[in-house]
Amino acid sequence: MPADSPTKLFRNEEELQRLPASQRIRYRLVGADCRYHANDNISAFVREGELDELRAEVQAKMQDVLQALVIDTENDHNTNDTALRVAKMFIDEVFRGRYVRMPSVTEFPNVERLNELMIVGPVKVRSACSHHLCPILGRVWIGVLPNEHSNLIGLSKYARICDWIMSRPQIQEEAVTMLANELQERVKPDGLAIVMEADHFCMHWRGVKDDESMMTNSVMRGAFLKDASLRREFLSLLSKK
Ligand SMILES: [Zn+2]
Repeated sequence: MPADSPTKLFRNEEELQRLPASQRIRYRLVGADCRYHANDNISAFVREGELDELRAEVQAKMQDVLQALVIDTENDHNTNDTALRVAKMFIDEVFRGRYVRMPSVTEFPNVERLNELMIVGPVKVRSACSHHLCPILGRVWIGVLPNEHSNLIGLSKYARICDWIMSRPQIQEEAVTMLANELQERVKPDGLAIVMEADHFCMHWRGVKDDESMMTNSVMRGAFLKDASLRREFLSLLSKK
């Protein structure tokens, strides 16, 4: 275990204030027995103003990385502010889905008792792989079969929930499952189907440099699992797009 690994020993907030924000947040997570993997959302443990502290910490460590790479950031005008840019990009953009709460979503009761297959997509996916922190760019399609007790959410909200989940270092298989769990809980449909097709830049930029590497994943739940014709209908509507 690394020396700075937080133990479950209780520390009060006053003591925590003396620690860097990242350690303070880790103490709260460990105290609450809460997982904090790369693709977990930890917003419930981040207090106001702490994202500014995290950004400054990341900037300082990123500056150390550039130094370790033996890049003269003082004289190289291109890399003067790289540490700050990368810190902002991580916290406020590409990994933002870890640090902010889920976008607010209004749910409507299904008063019209809609029970027809509904497809949302393609929704643009911008994510990063947990292994190399390289971009993952792709598209996702969501099929929903509502019942009279389902909650309906606006079309744009599917895209916002998807973006919130994808804006974390991810593994594609887990990302699709996380998205399915979130939608299942909110919409409570009879059937839910998700297909994600994405391009993993760690395959282009490094490693085998295989340029044909698209990865496709799907999750089928409820009616989509039981009913092959429904599944076929969903998949056939995707291939036309
Ligand atoms: Zn990778």
